[in-house]
Amino acid sequence: MGVREGFEELYGAAPEGVWAAPGRVNLIGEYTDFNEGFVMPLALPHTAVAAVSRREDGVLRLHSADIEGPVVELRVDELVPLTNTSWAAYPAGVVWALREAGHATVAGGADIHLASTVPTGAGLSSSAALEVVTALALNDLYELGLTGPQLARLSQRAENDFVGVPCGVMDQTASACCVEGHALHLDCRDLSIRQVPFDLASQGLELLVVDSRVKHALGDGAYAERRAGCEEGARQLGVTHLRDVAYEELDGALERLTDERVRRYVRHVVSDDHRVEQVIALLDAGDVRAIGPVLTDGHRSLRDDLRISCPELDLVVSTANASGALGARMTGGGFGGSAVVLVESADVDTVTKAITEAFAAAGYTAPRVFPAVPSAGARRVA
Ligand code: ADP
Ligand code: MG
Repeated sequence: MGVREGFEELYGAAPEGVWAAPGRVNLIGEYTDFNEGFVMPLALPHTAVAAVSRREDGVLRLHSADIEGPVVELRVDELVPLTNTSWAAYPAGVVWALREAGHATVAGGADIHLASTVPTGAGLSSSAALEVVTALALNDLYELGLTGPQLARLSQRAENDFVGVPCGVMDQTASACCVEGHALHLDCRDLSIRQVPFDLASQGLELLVVDSRVKHALGDGAYAERRAGCEEGARQLGVTHLRDVAYEELDGALERLTDERVRRYVRHVVSDDHRVEQVIALLDAGDVRAIGPVLTDGHRSLRDDLRISCPELDLVVSTANASGALGARMTGGGFGGSAVVLVESADVDTVTKAITEAFAAAGYTAPRVFPAVPSAGARRVA
């Protein structure tokens, strides 16, 4: 059953409209966002789809086709940050963030029924898809006139302050702003964006996402530890953020750092910002194949310097490269989640089989492999 039909069955009337917002995968630029550096995500074909109608009585009704359980009913004027620990906190948080930003009309409420094809907990931002689809639907219905980047910021605020997850703004920006056939260059200092052509199909290439099936758990303090280490590095180098250390000055900067751990984190962040710039230059020049080794370099940096990889992700990357891929890296927060693999279309089956067999031989859960076709950002679909 589609979300439109599901909505009618639940709420007894047709929705005013249907919206979709995608998950994302980050091509390059990891742990650079909070250092005010660069990231480069692309939207996936997988989307959260929401059927939505306005209400006038201040009630918010939420339902997900993917979660067992009844309709969640809340009052907009009783939404309190950090009190709701269920999935409903994501869309409810968006309503809260819109009101906090002064959009009083959303206090009328809404009926929402959604379903998503974005895998959860695989590092592909199913949470951002949920937030952004809610934000766009309410923006359209309540005629708020907000732009994609504004909807992304509000969605981030919902996740940070209402749900209580300290994420950057990349995921929501990718979901809100991506364009089909492109990767998105986001400058995390001024939040400016640029669409960079990333046409895989015409080049005979595919970017595979390999979900390691290892659940990423950022809550264990590793993220905060890396973040604190980066802040310490910036402090010792006399800059506000590591973004301000030029790649050409990296060797000199590293010599000035005494702590081995901080030195590794700084080397990762500054070199990954540089890798984003390398990838952009190559894509602008139409040399898509040449980004492969840059991706693999990025993995080495995440594995050895930032130390956020895991055996399963390392196995994806080494097996992919040994079986003919052009390059590969883990993507996202680390300790599980997914990797991206750049591969000739003709070699997709060979590389996929090699990875699957290597996982079986190691006794790991079978990975999930699918192509990351650079897709459109959030949009109204009906
Ligand atoms: P990620 O964003 O990397 O997929 P998160 O832990 O940030 O992982 O977000 C996953 C959470 O988002 C789920 O635990 C659930 O609360 C919510 N979520 C994602 N997709 C859905 C869905 N289809 N229906 C209801 N909740 C969902
Ligand atoms: Mg998330």
